Amino acid sequence: MGLRPLAERYADRLPLSRGAAIVSLGEGSTPLLSAPRIGARLGTELFLKWEGANPTGSFKDRGMTVAVTQALADGARAVVCASTGNTAASAAAYAARAGLDAVILQPEGAVARGKLAQARAVGAKVETRSSFEEALAEAQELEARGTHVLVNSLNPLRLQGQKTAAFEIVEELGAPPEVLALPYGGGGNLCAYALGFGEEGAGMPRLVAGEAANRPGTVASAIRISEPAHAEAAQRAVEESGGSVVPVDDAAILEAWELLAREEGLFCEPSSAAGLAALLADPPGDARVVCVITGHGLKDPDAVA
Ligand SMILES: *Cc1c(COP(=O)(O)O)cnc(C)c1O
Repeated sequence: MGLRPLAERYADRLPLSRGAAIVSLGEGSTPLLSAPRIGARLGTELFLKWEGANPTGSFKDRGMTVAVTQALADGARAVVCASTGNTAASAAAYAARAGLDAVILQPEGAVARGKLAQARAVGAKVETRSSFEEALAEAQELEARGTHVLVNSLNPLRLQGQKTAAFEIVEELGAPPEVLALPYGGGGNLCAYALGFGEEGAGMPRLVAGEAANRPGTVASAIRISEPAHAEAAQRAVEESGGSVVPVDDAAILEAWELLAREEGLFCEPSSAAGLAALLADPPGDARVVCVITGHGLKDPDAVA
């Protein structure tokens, strides 16, 4: 049977209806890898939380198992999301697993090949809209009509599921790290980690968030977000933790991305390296650091060329 689904492991810390049938593909329980080479370069004790090891290849699965489990328990027939890729791939897979329809509204162009293939393969209905904002507005309309459950990170169950990564880190290290670095796109994941460490109650790491210096035009498609949905809460979480938001340009993101591949053997998608790029730009000194590597490199094979 392997490891238990996170919705079962952390049932007492998730707001799911009692007795809900858990929709799982075996998400969570991802590796926390020691990264001595890059750690030495930074002068820190570095660990990588490898979220590409989730079933559809990104941390989105942590939130999706919880959101889709509750949607099914509530009698939903279909889910909808607006997505540039990983949310779509995850929503489509969990919907298929639950026997629900999935509608994916994607912005024109700029969707990585692997992610689109993932959504299509499991039978999602994929439609294109001219912008992310238009796609999201239409997804919200479908939700308001009551025909579809919205599974973007505006659905609070997504962040509830994603917070479990913080639980796993504390379990494995025996305490929170001093620094947690991660990419900052919409900011949902940042808020989820703050929530998770907060609930653990053993102290908050300094949150170091790598955001694309050129948000609308970055090569890192998963964080190509002009207006972060969770900007206010994310900013507050970073400030309260004593951390920082670090703008990183594409060259710095790609350098960190290549470093992860060549020095640690970890092939992630470019966006996933933004947390490391932030650490390289502003090394935290002699500290225990966890850097979240958010998604798998196979999703965006064209980036290698
Ligand atoms: C969604 C995603 C991000 C950004 O996460 P936010 O919660 O939007 O900040 C970063 N990397 C990958 C691989 C993602 O799929």
